[in-house]
Amino acid sequence: MADCIFCKIIAGEIPAAKVYEDELVFAFLDIGPINFGHTLVIPKEHHESSATIPETTAGRMFRVGARIGIALKRKFEWDAFNLHLADGTAAGQVVMHAHLHVIPRGVEDGFHWNWRQLRYEEGKAAEIARELSMRVAADLN
Ligand code: 5GP
Ligand code: ZN
Repeated sequence: MADCIFCKIIAGEIPAAKVYEDELVFAFLDIGPINFGHTLVIPKEHHESSATIPETTAGRMFRVGARIGIALKRKFEWDAFNLHLADGTAAGQVVMHAHLHVIPRGVEDGFHWNWRQLRYEEGKAAEIARELSMRVAADLN
């Protein structure tokens, strides 16, 4: 897409520190890393949402992301990694070309995800799962 920063990075019109490239995906260092080595894996084809990425490409993104995570551990002695994808502005997506974050993590790296944990009222979890599963089955089958 013409005015997309990440499409420009793939095309070589904006410089980026490339980590990996194949026919389906491109990976490069995030310009504002949570920890050093923080990498973004993106589909070469422009997709705003993860939901429209073809299965083969989405699978490749996950595989490449996980292998980059392993490389960060082995080469730079990180303890672990997070794979993170924000889909939509309310979820924190800022660049509207879908991207998988690979975030190297250390036992005491000083960074904390602020996820919360709510509790379901009686029967609510079953009700949500039933409605969601019908919708997902209709979409995927
Ligand atoms: P989001 O919040 O959309 O999940 O993440 C977007 C990420 O892209 C941010 O972590 C940000 O630092 C990174 N980013 C934004 N613009 C550029 C850029 O021009 N080059 C690189 N390498 N990373 C970028
Ligand atoms: Zn794009």
